[in-house]
Amino acid sequence: MAKRDFYEILGISKGASAAEIKKAYRKKAIEFHPDKNPDDKDAEAKFKEAAEAYEILSDENKKARYDQYGHQAFENGGGGGGYGGGMNMDDIFSQFGDIFGGGGFGGGFGGGGGQRRVKGSNLRIRVKLTLEEIANGVEKKVKVKRKVQAPGTTYKTCSTCQGSGQVTRIANTILGRMQTSAPCNVCGGAGQTIDKKPSDADAQGLKVSEETVSIKIPAGVVDGMQLKVSGKGNEAPGNGISGDLIVVIEEEQHDKLQREGDNLHYDLYVSFPDAVLGTSKEIDTVTGKVRIKVEAGVQSGKILRLRGKGIPSINGYGKGDLLVHVNVWTPKTLNKQQKDFFEAMQDDEHFDPKPESSDKSFFEKVKDMFS
Ligand code: ZN
Repeated sequence: MAKRDFYEILGISKGASAAEIKKAYRKKAIEFHPDKNPDDKDAEAKFKEAAEAYEILSDENKKARYDQYGHQAFENGGGGGGYGGGMNMDDIFSQFGDIFGGGGFGGGFGGGGGQRRVKGSNLRIRVKLTLEEIANGVEKKVKVKRKVQAPGTTYKTCSTCQGSGQVTRIANTILGRMQTSAPCNVCGGAGQTIDKKPSDADAQGLKVSEETVSIKIPAGVVDGMQLKVSGKGNEAPGNGISGDLIVVIEEEQHDKLQREGDNLHYDLYVSFPDAVLGTSKEIDTVTGKVRIKVEAGVQSGKILRLRGKGIPSINGYGKGDLLVHVNVWTPKTLNKQQKDFFEAMQDDEHFDPKPESSDKSFFEKVKDMFS
């Protein structure tokens, strides 16, 4: 999709002053704010688009480059990847101190510099993934019990601080009369208090609701890694910001494959006759079964490397390999006929071990073994 012009996004002309740019962005940020447009992907995209436009146009240097070269000015280097590029919600909200510092957020709530946007608490869930899911990336739907504003709850401007979130005290000290301000203890600094709430809501007007959240998990995640889904934690009262949902990755043990970083290991057992005569074997990979060739005369401990059959790197650079370890299976019991056969071979010099360096696993030959 072609990128829209930054001036067009903010609805201003090219000659707009710094103050006009700021004002235009504030308007868009309020209009498309995620708290006002829950689960509205279109509003979220517009919110991010406006933030990006403001990020460039509010910076004299970046604005000059944009005015001269357009979007191309920022397209070289660093881009690509698709995952995590651009501004995230935290970056955007961190701009807000600057934008809403003097005016209060959300319109209608008055508010001075001290008003604090209350943030809902974060929620944590563990998600179990198979190695196949980790290798290919997966979208998981999870049930989350989160606090949301109960339908029917309304909030009003705090009458103690008039919505500023701050109360001012005059104290007589030895230095004279001093004016100090502290967060309002009626509204906790949020500038709002409950107006009406249904009987099943808690003191903040919230109630627990079970929701299904869909989480996109990129390929290559690691056990214990934490992914953040912005805004899917507990909601805050009033015009506060929702907390985040922290997803902790748990990797399930695979019954055939062992993970080591981005590489995978597989123990392949071949019979005595197969090792001598050569064979082909079907083995499990994270993208399905694959048939590999085992050459005649293979030694136990040989490692066959299947390039790119491991786990993709979480950073998006390449994939690990699948290392197949050959184990020659020695029978523990023999019948009479087999015993006679091996006894006849035992004194044959042809079967004396004559290891070559290339047979040893640490001189492992790097070779693609697909057949
Ligand atoms: Zn207050």
